[in-house]
Amino acid sequence: PATDASLSLSALSVATPEDLVSHLQALRRDFILRVLRPVLNRLMSHTSNRNGLFNTPVDPVALNIPNYLDVISQPMDFGTVKCRLFSLEYDEADAFAADARLVLSNAITFNPPSHPVHQCAVALQAEFDAEYSKAQTRLVRDAQKKDEHHCTLCQGQTCALCGDKCLRLEPPVLICHGPCSARIKRGCVFYVSPDACRVWCQKCHAQLPAELPEEPNECESDDEDGVVDGAPEAAAARQLLKRKFDEDISEAWVQCDRCQSWVHQVCGLFNARANVGEAELTCPICKLKDVAGELRLRDAAAAAGAAAAAGAASAAAPSAASSAPAAVPPPGGRRWRRSSSSSSIFSSTSSLSRSSILRSSTSNRNSNSSSSSTTTTSSSRTSTTTTITRSRRRSRAPVYSAAALPRCAMSDFIELHVLRRLDELGMPPPPGSISIRVVSSITATHDVSSVVRRTFKPGGGAPPGACIPRELSYASKALCMFQCIDGAEVCLFSMYVQEHGADAPSFNARRVYVAYLDSVEYFRPRAARTHVYHEILAAYLDWARRRGFRTAHIWSCPPQRGNNFIFWAHPEHQKTPTRERLMTWYRLMLRRCEALGVVHAVENLHTTHFQADAAAAALDDPRPPVPPLFDGDYWLDEIQRLLRLVERKSDADFVTDRMSPTELCRGALEAVTVLPQAAAFMEPVDPFAHQCADYFDVIKHPMDLGAVAAKLAGGEYATAEAFADDVRLVFANGVTYNPPKHPVHVAARALAATFDR
Ligand SMILES: [Zn+2]
Ligand SMILES: [Zn+2]
Ligand SMILES: [Zn+2]
Ligand SMILES: [Zn+2]
Repeated sequence: PATDASLSLSALSVATPEDLVSHLQALRRDFILRVLRPVLNRLMSHTSNRNGLFNTPVDPVALNIPNYLDVISQPMDFGTVKCRLFSLEYDEADAFAADARLVLSNAITFNPPSHPVHQCAVALQAEFDAEYSKAQTRLVRDAQKKDEHHCTLCQGQTCALCGDKCLRLEPPVLICHGPCSARIKRGCVFYVSPDACRVWCQKCHAQLPAELPEEPNECESDDEDGVVDGAPEAAAARQLLKRKFDEDISEAWVQCDRCQSWVHQVCGLFNARANVGEAELTCPICKLKDVAGELRLRDAAAAAGAAAAAGAASAAAPSAASSAPAAVPPPGGRRWRRSSSSSSIFSSTSSLSRSSILRSSTSNRNSNSSSSSTTTTSSSRTSTTTTITRSRRRSRAPVYSAAALPRCAMSDFIELHVLRRLDELGMPPPPGSISIRVVSSITATHDVSSVVRRTFKPGGGAPPGACIPRELSYASKALCMFQCIDGAEVCLFSMYVQEHGADAPSFNARRVYVAYLDSVEYFRPRAARTHVYHEILAAYLDWARRRGFRTAHIWSCPPQRGNNFIFWAHPEHQKTPTRERLMTWYRLMLRRCEALGVVHAVENLHTTHFQADAAAAALDDPRPPVPPLFDGDYWLDEIQRLLRLVERKSDADFVTDRMSPTELCRGALEAVTVLPQAAAFMEPVDPFAHQCADYFDVIKHPMDLGAVAAKLAGGEYATAEAFADDVRLVFANGVTYNPPKHPVHVAARALAATFDR
């Protein structure tokens, strides 16, 4: 309904006071998690932590040490520390360190010095001290970096909620509209059409005709045929605007109308699209103050408010804050920070901190004397949270929410399984906080490449000489999981599946393909995250099985560096899993499926289709039967690459003597670049992106295969030797910079040998 739209589109308007308190806390503590997690991971997987000895609570019964709890008053284990860390319970690094040290000092106290557990604990103590001091250095360095930052957007001011300055966002992907179709690199010059729909790289721009060819305007065309209603935009090449791809894109800022402090839009739960009118904008702290009395949550509000305000006050330069004029609304846009609105930058954070500190002391007094306050309420944070959880109620049901998205039998089935699983794990989520929905379900078409159609026969009883159809249609579905986190709904997990029904050609019939799977690691509680993901997959496979599908295929390879499957960006501290880790992850999921009776056999495509089929080539049609064909599957691209290689090899013998030196050089280069290991050498080494700051200290003459190809194409090599020297330089650099067992070192040696041949 339109009347409620503006309310429900803003996370701030639907967040409960408890959500806001939790949100403000999370903003302040998330950075600790980033730095401390590696420290804990190291301890938990250290060799001195034998079989994860310190990772679970000491069990006096199982270990037959009935006096344990008499000696040790405060038991602690790394698993518990991890739980606390991940649920953001530590407000400072030292609280984390105290818990971690307690695990080890308990073991040292309880066990005599000769006991192996005692010795392991001593070894881990040294490890912890070293790692923790490194982490502390990192925290200080991060804080310094933050202090040093100053730009026109933030003017050196910090966000009153998270305490950070500019939050940089992932830059967009710009693809050249010219013949190269390449990604425009950071720092490069490019040209953009006046409607900002098309961009060209410098090279392609130089070759553009004076009058640009008329093309459908992709920005406004909604229909699939590419037919446009309006007249296509004609532009002259000289009308294109020259730009440099180096702008930093940062989270936008917004000012609170009430306390005048500036906050990041994301921290303030501000939705620019919902806030089109002139309604008063309040930040979460001010909103919390509004409702604090009414809901008897004064303690929580004051605690969160004071914490945030204290941080903001200490971050702001005192002299600037005290002498700053009252905040003036920026001209033009009332709430939008513009670089010109310098007078309003030094907003009066001091008044915010003063008033909220005042408030915190009065409200503490109030709660102590007030007879109506809940008995468990105290200034301690943990008990406050307990009270809040008990009084949790959602004041207004959001209209545009994940829960309001259309349901279907499949999403209901999966959601039910996930909720049951969380119950089973003893971590039932608040009602309605998790939603699983099928957000897209369409019939898609897969164009089968001619290479595949030439190479394989359809198999499955098809007559000899029969061909694979040119097109295969299938049902493509996208599934998302949402969780309500601190009042904001977050899409955490997404999966794309392809379903081939019983009427598909025999090689594809009754098969499903899990094509893409991606997540951002914000699920709460974190301990349940993997279980939940596994359950979604298991439930989907179960659902597919019940509908009559026989075989499921899963693509289990991590995305390559710089590529993301579904989500545009991932949290900075979320690591891309290695291939081995991902395989283990899927195997665990499949083991659960087997336990549930959903899956009865696990195989891999290579053994079932490539090895077996090659041996079983029939005499009347030597082509092997085609493996299942799925849109975007890995081997489809791979087979094209391999066949090109084979064709080139057989051609090479009789072509060589008729080729020009440049063509020969190009052939030699392609023989290398066609190999998958060459990917690492195609572009210049970026010491920042590749985290090798000393690269240029070690390597005096950087070179990459992309640059060699460009020089070759531009006729810059006078002799074939000059060309070969450059190629060898690429690999020599790789060998010099990386230690002998490093994959890049190994690849460089192998490629150099191939090139020399
Ligand atoms: Zn800035
Ligand atoms: Zn912020
Ligand atoms: Zn281009
Ligand atoms: Zn405010």
